[in-house]
Amino acid sequence: MTRLLLIGPPGAGKGTQAARLAEIYGVPAISTGDIFRSNVKNGTELGTKAKAFMDAGDNVPDSLTNALIRDRLEEDDAKNGFLLDGYPRTTDQVRELDEFLASHGSALDVVVELEADTEVVVGRLRKRALEQGRSDDTEEVVRHRLEVYSEQTAPLIKTYAGRDVLVTIDALGEVDAVTARITEALFDRGISATDAGSR
Ligand code: AMP
Repeated sequence: MTRLLLIGPPGAGKGTQAARLAEIYGVPAISTGDIFRSNVKNGTELGTKAKAFMDAGDNVPDSLTNALIRDRLEEDDAKNGFLLDGYPRTTDQVRELDEFLASHGSALDVVVELEADTEVVVGRLRKRALEQGRSDDTEEVVRHRLEVYSEQTAPLIKTYAGRDVLVTIDALGEVDAVTARITEALFDRGISATDAGSR
């Protein structure tokens, strides 16, 4: 049973690392950003409500996000652990997640902070904009997303540090090197790869 959370600014490599860690630890990677994007793509009611916030680089309101994540965590594949990427992003979301987990008799095992310099992440996102054409990767929106991160999400790091579940990882360098740093830090916290993941 491994319950992990990845936190860090946009462009720190959360999505890339989440996919790898999910495989290594045999848990589903749950990204609220991906769930919102697929709803926008499929033209669902949730997608229609979320789109304007996403395009502006603002957080989607907590009421929509909390309902979505509650449903997702109730699914069978998340019963034996999960890796959250991009949630929680606000203090209200932390409260919601705490309550959800407590009502199931559990809590987060480790929160992994991916630390990266602002100019580095802006550069990475500029590159991603050219490669993937995400509508919220324009220079202006990227700057705004970074502001939203530092105002609303960065303060959560202190909360988790206070609970002694935080590990901070340098997100600079090769993808493999960053993954290795994370798995070593998790190993030190008693979390090892599953047989499925290490094969
Ligand atoms: P991401 O893929 O994590 O960068 O998220 C892309 C966008 O989806 C964000 O800029 C927000 O508009 C929205 N979003 C994703 N996760 C959340 C969340 N936990 N709370 C509010 N909005 C979110």
